[in-house]
Amino acid sequence: IPSKLPDVGSTIFTEMSALAQQCQAINLGQGFPDYPPPEALIHAVNEAMLQGHNQYAPMTGLPQLRQAIASKVQGQHGKSYSAESEITVTAGATEALMSSFLALTHPGDQVLLIDPAYDLYAPAIRLAGAEAVRVPMQAPKPGMPAFRVDWERVKSAITPRTRMLVLNFPHNPTGTTLKPEDLDALEAIVSSHPILLLSDEAYEHIVFDGQVHLSPAARPLLAERTILVSSFGKTFHATGWKVGYCCAPVHIMAEIRKVHQFTVFSVSTPMQAGIARYLGESNLPAELPGFYQKKRDRLASGLEKTPLRPLHSEGTFFLLVDTKALGSGLEKELALRLTREIGVASIPVSAFYADPEHPESNHQLLRLCFAKRDATLDQALERLQGLC
Ligand code: PMP
Ligand code: GLN
Repeated sequence: IPSKLPDVGSTIFTEMSALAQQCQAINLGQGFPDYPPPEALIHAVNEAMLQGHNQYAPMTGLPQLRQAIASKVQGQHGKSYSAESEITVTAGATEALMSSFLALTHPGDQVLLIDPAYDLYAPAIRLAGAEAVRVPMQAPKPGMPAFRVDWERVKSAITPRTRMLVLNFPHNPTGTTLKPEDLDALEAIVSSHPILLLSDEAYEHIVFDGQVHLSPAARPLLAERTILVSSFGKTFHATGWKVGYCCAPVHIMAEIRKVHQFTVFSVSTPMQAGIARYLGESNLPAELPGFYQKKRDRLASGLEKTPLRPLHSEGTFFLLVDTKALGSGLEKELALRLTREIGVASIPVSAFYADPEHPESNHQLLRLCFAKRDATLDQALERLQGLC
């Protein structure tokens, strides 16, 4: 049969995790913690099962979880979403994103992606029949140690066919966060172009150095056009639970729900019941930024004794490292070599570009995940120090 995604194979995350396992390498590639979710949350889910929360949840999500999400978002961004009609619980952020693309974009529409971009957006846009248009971030250079969005470039990529702009802050893989001036630029853009903003905030609770996570949902002008997507996977060290959510104005959410009801219909009931109870009782993990900042710093300072130069990470649990000292080949070749020869798996940043083999997609950067126990990080560092 003709393939709908002829040039797509396994994701880079699947590929690198499989190789890491095969080589018994330390896996700093695919982003997931090697420690468990909070014990009280695990108990809450267990109890939900024992108390009979085992049959279909309502299509839109358990009311108590939607209410808990509404309170959480109101507290974070001062934006009030109706738990009844403007919030839907999804199978991770992944399903919220896919349902949004399928529901809101049409054949002939263009969707702007800011490169490097998380790997699911472009194929999902293609499955929806729309076209991804990619706008690169400014890469780090002397005097500018982090990736930055060039909003003028984003603006000039907008055409009458542009339906949507995808945002992802804190940003995977660069760790860049959104600043007030970015929201100003977005306000200027939507004032003259009526596009939707699909805002993937999966790392919303992991921002460093005293920053506060900003969302377009916090600005009324932007909130009217924003679909806020997030997940409990990173927030609760539970990437395997696959519970996420999206929030959007009622007329947008009505369309997303039409797709959601025919893709997954509803999401695991005991997981939802447990998360709702946990969120209600102990609320949000205030210690998370500090917890991850220490890990970021541990990894960055350990890397000083290696040829790999860390860039600055403002959020997420990823750190980019500059590998120029090791030569100038394709990032993926180096990632494969380090996994096989040194025993440390990483993700080539080129995988987040349209053409990973193109020289402009290869900045000689690898992504390392620091959502690992200190002992795991230290062991990886010891191996990387062998590169000298
Ligand atoms: N968006 C981004 C930027 C991600 O990094 C991930 C994976 N961690 C997802 C979406 C998918 O989230 P989930 O596992 O909740 O589906
Ligand atoms: N979001 C995770 C990462 O960036 C991977 C999730 C997946 O494997 N699809 O590492």
